[in-house]
Amino acid sequence: MSLLQRAASRLLDALAPPLCPVTNEPLAAPGFLSAAAWATLQFIDDPVCDRCGAPFAHEFGDGVSCARCIAEPPDFDSARAAVVYDDASHGLIVSFKHADRTELAPMFAGWLLRASRGLLRSGSLIAPAPLHRQRLFARRYNQAAILADAVARASGAAFEPMLLERTRATPPQQRLSPEGRRRNVAGAFAVRESAAARVKGAHVVLIDDVLTTGATLSACARTLKKAGAARVDALVLARVLKGGTALA
Ligand SMILES: [Zn+2]
Repeated sequence: MSLLQRAASRLLDALAPPLCPVTNEPLAAPGFLSAAAWATLQFIDDPVCDRCGAPFAHEFGDGVSCARCIAEPPDFDSARAAVVYDDASHGLIVSFKHADRTELAPMFAGWLLRASRGLLRSGSLIAPAPLHRQRLFARRYNQAAILADAVARASGAAFEPMLLERTRATPPQQRLSPEGRRRNVAGAFAVRESAAARVKGAHVVLIDDVLTTGATLSACARTLKKAGAARVDALVLARVLKGGTALA
């Protein structure tokens, strides 16, 4: 597209009514969803695994972990997700990731704050799961960084986009087993030298769009804890559920 064409398409975008990223219905204002889209999303509520945030089918009381977290505890202290990863949330996340729907970030930040259940403190460091620079270049922006920035603005905590770096480009995880995913991201992250002093004793909250097995966030948490972080939690927009239903 030429510069002129791009400018013309931006102008048209500005004049056209904003559309719902899920249903494509016209909306009164950008950055929101239609009522029909809301109805398709499955927000995650208690009871959940105290560790990984997987929804439980039954109430087991506070502080209970799921079987998977007991067998193989992740390196983050807790992870919480706003919605279940399904067709509806997949479409929403894809449009945020690949279609420049960054105006959705403040709405998503509200979801993440709700999912965090008061976890964030004013001194918390809000860090996005890092992309390798090759992928960053291909995608032009890191959607996790845009989410993290919005969460920091909404909570008053510090936005730390440069805390972690991905030191090695890892192949896409989609087709890998849980063990394969773990191996794929092992040793792929590092705390940047310029951030080392800030990480010591800090409460870090990692932000990402989707949690599948938690391998990436666990590897990030392991790296941060090795560098002296006191506590590492994770907040994600959507989490994959094993078999599409509640775990445990
Ligand atoms: Zn769990």
